[in-house]
Amino acid sequence: MIVEQNINIETIRKEYPILQQKVNGRPLVYFDNAATSQKPLVVINSIKNYYNEINSNVHRGVHHLSQKATDAYEAARTAAQAFINAKSAVEINFTKGTTESINLVAHSFGNKFIKENDEIIISTLEHHSNIVPWQILCENTGAKLKIIPINDAGELDMEAFENLLTEKTKLVSVVYISNSLGTINPAKTIIEKAHSVGAKVLLDAAQAAPHTPIDVQTLDCDFLALSAHKMCGPTGFGILYGKETLLEQMLPYQAGGEMIKEVTFEKTTYNTLPFKFEAGTPDIAGGIAFKAAIDYLNEIGWDFIEQQEKELLNYGTQRLEEIDGLKIVGTAKNKASVISFLLDNHHPYDVGVILDQLGIAIRTGHHCCQPLMNRLNIEGTCRASFAFYNTKEEIDTLVDGILRAKRMLG
Ligand code: PLP
Repeated sequence: MIVEQNINIETIRKEYPILQQKVNGRPLVYFDNAATSQKPLVVINSIKNYYNEINSNVHRGVHHLSQKATDAYEAARTAAQAFINAKSAVEINFTKGTTESINLVAHSFGNKFIKENDEIIISTLEHHSNIVPWQILCENTGAKLKIIPINDAGELDMEAFENLLTEKTKLVSVVYISNSLGTINPAKTIIEKAHSVGAKVLLDAAQAAPHTPIDVQTLDCDFLALSAHKMCGPTGFGILYGKETLLEQMLPYQAGGEMIKEVTFEKTTYNTLPFKFEAGTPDIAGGIAFKAAIDYLNEIGWDFIEQQEKELLNYGTQRLEEIDGLKIVGTAKNKASVISFLLDNHHPYDVGVILDQLGIAIRTGHHCCQPLMNRLNIEGTCRASFAFYNTKEEIDTLVDGILRAKRMLG
């Protein structure tokens, strides 16, 4: 089993040219996957092929290239629909990524449905992109922002969440998997409880999409946001899933070409879904590469991805716990392959710089989660985040690197 898996991992790693390089004279160990994953050749080549062979604007031309580009771009929508099991392809809106998707909901749903004294609930675990849009909306509308607290392990306090829910709650917007601590939130329970008071739910699935299969119909979430670049796809591309009935009622987000049906100086009517939310020429190459990434992940298969990442998480946790003076931050029972840690009382940045000299890429800092760091009473953490193409040998290299950092920092 292990031998077979090693063979598979080696074959998989060969598909990533970037992983073959040396950094500071040592083989690169890439453990910053939560920030962005690496891209396999099929994804890289799909971008090259698009520009070499079918570059053309979409949805507009009758000519051969435009039709080819449109077909390839729209195939990404169908692939994304299947990837998250959406009922209809019109529920898939292409965006620049999770941040834009959340801003779209804050603008187009928020400004239509959220009024003074309404309440929006988020959690202590949120990334800034799932905090600031709601703060702005609350400032503009007079609505109130409420925060689900966490326990010291980094798990949501579900009892406190239930107590926050009232008939004033219009929206609950929570992260599915925490980028800082790896906590996997009980998304289905959150959605059921929010729906019981009539609130809508947005799931920030930026970190869920690379680690776990997503089924929006089973979850019954109203909105879901994800970014292609965290799941082996290109940067600057992602989706907003929304239930069709809700999207129909929402205001347009940006205005311009593509999102209109008819324009006169007196009145403009808007295009049907999903184009209503897709003004301007989109990132066509990005969409095509996103499909390549989805196809690639489907080919690798969730069984393999989940099993491999679970082994890496367990092995990494066990090995890091052996290091004297190392404290793991975020010890939720249900965790994805993300390990945040502190080493003695050294600044995470100092640890990160020494590891970088050894060719090991980790993330240091607040991970765009300053309120979470405040709650934990720390400035930031070191974060090693694993993808299915990482290996236990790389974790051993990380452990050696941390021991070296410990000696150097004294
Ligand atoms: N939400 C979470 C949980 C994230 O980890 C990130 C990125 O790190 C984002 C949102 C923002 O994603 P993007 O920068 O791709 O828009």
